[in-house]
Amino acid sequence: MTDIGQNILSVKAQINDLNQQYQQNAELLAVSKTKPKEDVITAYHAGQRKFGENYVQEGVEKIAALQSYTDIEWHFIGPLQSNKTKPVAEYFDWVQSIDRLKIAKRLNDQRPANKGPLNVCIQVNISNEANKSGVVLEELEALAQQVAQLPELKLRGLMAIPLKTHDTMELSEMFIALQKAFINLKDKYPTIDTLSMGMTADMQLAIKNGSTMVRIGTAIFGAREKPNSKKTEDL
Ligand SMILES: *Cc1c(COP(=O)(O)O)cnc(C)c1O
Repeated sequence: MTDIGQNILSVKAQINDLNQQYQQNAELLAVSKTKPKEDVITAYHAGQRKFGENYVQEGVEKIAALQSYTDIEWHFIGPLQSNKTKPVAEYFDWVQSIDRLKIAKRLNDQRPANKGPLNVCIQVNISNEANKSGVVLEELEALAQQVAQLPELKLRGLMAIPLKTHDTMELSEMFIALQKAFINLKDKYPTIDTLSMGMTADMQLAIKNGSTMVRIGTAIFGAREKPNSKKTEDL
């Protein structure tokens, strides 16, 4: 078996262990951005069905090339400009990066009728960084209320990319605040079941704090071309 296949199995085993340890139910989204479709196929054959992409054109090309794999669930997790919503509405199953009503409305209007509602998460800017996408917590409820009314979207939950930090306390606090916001919203909207937080470097802390979906790229597919400014440590 190739490395990618082995990585899928070992990341899944780690998630299982963490779920047991913290009594959670997190699942794996394999982030295949910048990686060729062959890598997705390898992960597929190791049993992985949910994949995340960040870039519209790259994602759409991969989905089109892999359309015979009908049970793959494709998640768009990158920043989305309003002039690029149409292919996303047409090709993807989920969009996790809703950060304003304009984008939500366009996706709603452009969703093909035969595809059923598009699953969406609202992206929260949990660390209040000026250059980060996502809504701040204070604006979350208002946006959720508006998104929940769009008939071709199904509001599934929240997604966040916390500030890169080695400060475990600080990171914990961000995850805890997200979990609180998630539980609050879940009480109001029955379709909400997804708290998408945790990446290769902070998977453990995210699951400990109630993540239901970890988005893992590096630990499965290896480092990407453009290296992160911060080295991620293996769990
Ligand atoms: C790239 C990316 C990931 C995966 O990050 P890794 O550190 O490689 O696991 C997860 N979520 C989002 C939104 C990303 O852009």
